[in-house]
Amino acid sequence: MATVICADTELHVHLEGSLEPELLCRLDSSLTIAEARALYRFDTFAGFIEAFKAAVRRLQTPEHYAMAADSLFSSLAAQGVRYAEVIFSAGVVEWKGQSLDEVWAALRTASDRAPLTVRWNVDVVRQFGGAPAERVAAWAAAHGGEGIVSFGIGGDETARPAEEFARAVAAAREAGLKFTPHAGETSTAENVWAMVRMGADRIGHGIRAVGDLVLLAELRERGIALEICPTSNVRTGAVPSLAEHPLRALFDAGVLVTLNSDDPAIFECSLGGEFALAREMGFSGAELERIAENARRCAFGV
Ligand SMILES: [Zn+2]
Repeated sequence: MATVICADTELHVHLEGSLEPELLCRLDSSLTIAEARALYRFDTFAGFIEAFKAAVRRLQTPEHYAMAADSLFSSLAAQGVRYAEVIFSAGVVEWKGQSLDEVWAALRTASDRAPLTVRWNVDVVRQFGGAPAERVAAWAAAHGGEGIVSFGIGGDETARPAEEFARAVAAAREAGLKFTPHAGETSTAENVWAMVRMGADRIGHGIRAVGDLVLLAELRERGIALEICPTSNVRTGAVPSLAEHPLRALFDAGVLVTLNSDDPAIFECSLGGEFALAREMGFSGAELERIAENARRCAFGV
């Protein structure tokens, strides 16, 4: 089916959100498969954050990170994905007291043997604040030539003001990294504006931009793509239902929209599945091909 064939570029997928329940059991032998599946049951954004944290806690060693990466890469390749930008929550590694250098060495080795092209978005956690973000940005800047193409901010976007991260973002940009924050997922268009003012190259989600015509024009004119993840938005309660998802409105407004899986294990979704959903939402084959082409155009790596 054309919807599956064209979905070859994934720009927003979290490594830590890709741990299938079976893999969680291999990482933590005390977990039963039923317990592992139960970790991913939630119906609010706060519940989702807890599920993400439960997965992250099972990544205890560099080898665990490599197992996660190998598993994600083979799953993406099996779906026909040929290029992926994977979000790696470096801020969480530091918070857990693990060695970022050792974890990164394991991930680099995994990327080198991956059956697709992998680039990395190094992510910090918004609720941890500006100081840890600056440390991670300095680390990412020093490793920019190693497949890291961008610096991002994830987590709870209502927790801290965007401006608190200005120094971290400036350091990453100075090192040639792009800036790909999460914004306008659960909060407001104002949060998207704040990240646009800070020089965002793409926006994770950005769906709240839909009610702000001036912002939509800004996104369109500056060619800032939105990394949209419909299943994620429904599962976290960011939108009440697929029927009410603003994907169509954003597309019709001429914004560069892309489709992505976000956290495929937690949300039980896939890139091809998101394209199939968009078809159910009324997108034609030609429109879906445009969305797939947007992802290829807005990818940072080569
Ligand atoms: Zn995300």
